[in-house]
Amino acid sequence: MQYDVIIIGAGAAGLMCAAIAGQRGRSVLVLDHANKAGKKILMSGGGRCNFTNYYVEPDRYLCHNTHFCKSALSRYTQWDFIGLVEKHGIPYHEKQLGELFCDNKASDILEMLLSECDQAGAKVQLNTSVDAIHSLETESGGYKLNTTQGEYTCESLVVASGGLSIPTLGASGFGYQVAEQFNLKTYKTRAGLVPFTITNQLKDVCIALSGSSCEVIMECNGQSFRGNMLFTHRGLSGPAVLQISSYWQAGQPLTINLLPDIDLAQVLRETQHERPKLSLKKFIAQWLTQKMSEQLVELFLSDLVKTTDVFKAEQPQTLAELNAEQMDAIAHQFNAWQLVPSGTEGYRTAEVTLGGIDTDEVSSKTMMSKNQQGLYFIGEVLDVTGHLGGFNFQWAWASGWAAAQYV
Ligand code: FAD
Repeated sequence: MQYDVIIIGAGAAGLMCAAIAGQRGRSVLVLDHANKAGKKILMSGGGRCNFTNYYVEPDRYLCHNTHFCKSALSRYTQWDFIGLVEKHGIPYHEKQLGELFCDNKASDILEMLLSECDQAGAKVQLNTSVDAIHSLETESGGYKLNTTQGEYTCESLVVASGGLSIPTLGASGFGYQVAEQFNLKTYKTRAGLVPFTITNQLKDVCIALSGSSCEVIMECNGQSFRGNMLFTHRGLSGPAVLQISSYWQAGQPLTINLLPDIDLAQVLRETQHERPKLSLKKFIAQWLTQKMSEQLVELFLSDLVKTTDVFKAEQPQTLAELNAEQMDAIAHQFNAWQLVPSGTEGYRTAEVTLGGIDTDEVSSKTMMSKNQQGLYFIGEVLDVTGHLGGFNFQWAWASGWAAAQYV
């Protein structure tokens, strides 16, 4: 069968591209090896799909070429996608920080995309794996695909097969193999927006505090995020943790401010003067839960005893017992806790894949390979990764839309 456009991957980017290309009058076939389209859309945003963000800016994306995403994001904006959502009468709300979620369920977004594809005559074919891609050596170019459902040819081939995160949702390294076949450079991939694991001596604290959370500022490699941090049985999770994980490299320390609105050294001095008999644990429990205060005070004091001369073996019970140096040391632990995660949960639970196809290989206007006529890459398979908050879907919509103008 011959089509103008074949898109591999019926996810966020692929379906958007299919609908828009179909509206342009192109004959479009979307192939996916999964038994259902848009599985990640259905799982996203806790089942409510955080489909975009009011504040989409290029600096919310990680990419080796920081300029690459600007063009597509400015031509298909969050307002365009919100317009589409409203046209379909899908109720939505802003949760926080501009993050837009469906009021009801994520399937509203998937059904909207499938209905747009349907109306535009774009065909979505599931349970189809692509075994081989051949570039046609004819004057007009094009591609021939051998698939488990037969042979197809097309003028334009769009790779929208996503990244490696969550293999159980259909993720595969297919896009990177296509890049290799056509000699396109890729950056090494790693899991992003992913919880940290802790297997060292901090593990017991994580287990004891599992389910507890607090608002923190997390810093690593010059980036910082403010938000919730959640202790889990296996380590750390929560929005601030997922955000910083995309900037973290194995072995690096994180700096965590557990009391981001408090200059603890100063407040400690003031309180020592006013309430000298107050215990350190009760003092900290003004801002953190009793359980967190107890666990963290014990952890920090035992660390300070082991690693510095500031504390002797016995630990202070009241604020009156603390000297200036000790107050500074405790304050530093709470305001700038240095923690080295053991690793991350990896692709099993990661929301995104960092790295991927080098954007220098692709036109930022058309998403077409600069060296391979008619071969396009869109969505997460490219080396473009958004922050948490609806930015990854906005990239999928924008890059899918951009390619759809030219396929
Ligand atoms: P995908 O949506 O992953 O689609 C790729 C498609 O290609 C899939 O259907 C897959 O089956 C298919 N495919 C893969 N390999 C092959 C192959 N070999 N042959 C044929 N087909 C293949 N982002 C947000 O902005 N907001 C959120 O709320 C949000 N929540 C998320 C929650 C979870 C649990 C996860 C995992 C991710 C979440 N993301 C969220 C990220 C977002 O889902 C992705 O960035 C986005 O889906 C990428 O779109 P894509 O079209 O490039 O890839």
